[in-house]
Amino acid sequence: MFEVIRIPAFKDNYIWLLRQGMQAVVVDPGDARPVLALLNREGWSLSAILITHHHADHQGGIASLKERYPVQVFGPASEPIYGLDRPLRGGETVRIEPFDLSWQVIAVPGHTLGHLAYYGAGRLFCGDTLFGGGCGRLFEGSPEQMADSLARLASLPDDTAVYCAHEYTEANLRFALAVEPGNRQLQRRVDEVAVARAKGLSTIPSTIATEKATNPFLRCTAPEVIAAARHHWPDALDEVAIFATLREWKNHF
Ligand code: ZN
Ligand code: FE
Repeated sequence: MFEVIRIPAFKDNYIWLLRQGMQAVVVDPGDARPVLALLNREGWSLSAILITHHHADHQGGIASLKERYPVQVFGPASEPIYGLDRPLRGGETVRIEPFDLSWQVIAVPGHTLGHLAYYGAGRLFCGDTLFGGGCGRLFEGSPEQMADSLARLASLPDDTAVYCAHEYTEANLRFALAVEPGNRQLQRRVDEVAVARAKGLSTIPSTIATEKATNPFLRCTAPEVIAAARHHWPDALDEVAIFATLREWKNHF
């Protein structure tokens, strides 16, 4: 089994480093410097790079890492990814050395059209699709695509650890509470997250169970969420319209 190490980058990004023995794989290295610093300090070598989508804060470090290590880059086939060696579309399983397991590649269009998530060993690396208490903005995809993508992730086992790419949980939960003030589990999570953040701790990973219970974007069929969305936009009739209303509301929250 591998260890997952959090590498903070930029203002609120997380680069995830997966380590087994002396070998490491990184997910979404937007900046090479903190990754190289950790690898050098620990004497680990880099074996592969996984990319979820094309935004610079997720792939900006590829060039420098490839200069230093002869690694393969796995990422979305339909997006401009620097040095992409293993183009993926979702629906396939891939083996990523040195890990002795098959990763499920899941297409999750919405934030971007080619966005991928990687699932293996009970862990989900989902980039900017599902966040703690929220979801990514719709830069390229439609509300329908994003709602489908989130449903695909929500169908993973409850105890799946969710490793998203940003520490947005506290702000996301402020919005969640405006949508669903009566959700007890959400109230508890708000308190826990406030305590963690006050101590400078991370709120990631979360779990699929926690997200299903508290993330409004996964709760578009909950009566209180439906009522809040319709209060905001009375024409939000079906589930996708509820989702679209929440996403739009959050953009201006
Ligand atoms: Zn992004
Ligand atoms: Fe991002």
